[in-house]
Amino acid sequence: MTPEAKRLIERLDGGERLTAEKFRRLLEGSDKESDALLREKAVARRKAVYGNAVFVRGLIEISSYCKNDCLYCGIRRSNRNADRYRLTEEQILACADEGYTLGFRTFVLQGGEDGYFTDERLVPLLRELKRRHPDCAVTLSLGERGKESFQRLFDAGADRYLLRHETATKAHYQTLHPPEMSFDRRMNCLRDLRAIGYAVGAGFMVGSPGQTAEHLANDLYFIQEFQPEMCGIGPFIPHKDTVFANLPAGNVEMTCRLLSIIRLIKPNILLPATTALGTIHPRGRELGIQAGANVVMPNLSPADVRKKYALYDNKICTGEESAQCKDCLNARMRAVGYEIVVSRGDAAPVASRKS
Ligand code: SAH
Repeated sequence: MTPEAKRLIERLDGGERLTAEKFRRLLEGSDKESDALLREKAVARRKAVYGNAVFVRGLIEISSYCKNDCLYCGIRRSNRNADRYRLTEEQILACADEGYTLGFRTFVLQGGEDGYFTDERLVPLLRELKRRHPDCAVTLSLGERGKESFQRLFDAGADRYLLRHETATKAHYQTLHPPEMSFDRRMNCLRDLRAIGYAVGAGFMVGSPGQTAEHLANDLYFIQEFQPEMCGIGPFIPHKDTVFANLPAGNVEMTCRLLSIIRLIKPNILLPATTALGTIHPRGRELGIQAGANVVMPNLSPADVRKKYALYDNKICTGEESAQCKDCLNARMRAVGYEIVVSRGDAAPVASRKS
């Protein structure tokens, strides 16, 4: 470990802000020893805020129809091989009811940008979800919408919104998306969500095509400045029917390194060990938790549609029932000394940086 890397880790751990340039130096100066130090500090911060609790989110993948054409994504509109499905309102509510019985207190409704799910359809659905489960949080992850729409969904009961920024570097964003998609629009959505009062989740893929240390440094700097309540990061994994089919996936080491750094940037951030991380390594989610993550997101979608929500190849947990997914994760978390809890899992108040 270089003296500079050590110093930067200590500065981060002490609550100091870093410039994008320093984040880049930290990433470029990383080795096994600095990763171990990062992990140790990140886990200590995480334990000071959340103990050994792991929050669960029940993921309900409501539609694989999408009007967008993100170059990396398996459900992009130009993928003619994608087998599309859309859950009915009754199916979504049934998934949540089952999830509630299994101990979930947060439901994440995620999907492609599907024109079927207008405000007129989502508002009554959200109201009914909250009527049935008033003690639960509802998170939406339905892509970009107008501010008025975000407001209506919020008023109908949505508590949180996940909208990964994907990359904080505009030029890089443009290489991952078709020309009609806009970096500025996506960033504006994040600001709108924040202004409305949502708990907001940003995030990015690790090892996405063309990504450099400088891009990742910009992502870290953005997280530090925007201070999202949540941050979803996972490795890029190629999908066979996309432009990026033959490119390499992101790796576990870099993903875990970034999880640790993000934990130090914002000790109370909600940070999932993602399904994508579990896909590239058999113990990926455990490694994510051991690097400072504190959330897992098991699948609550009906078993018969899971394979169809294929953002990338070889996605795990597509053959199981919801109860099995939950039990499996319980056992995995216990095996590394953590405990899944029955809780909405809101962000804890900001902890002091003493020690
Ligand atoms: N339509 C919603 C939800 C997108 S899917 C939205 O626009 O936010 C959730 C996330 O999956 C995306 O934000 C993206 O970061 C990730 N993802 C998509 N394709 C991927 C791939 N090939 N490998 C890894 N992650 C991918």
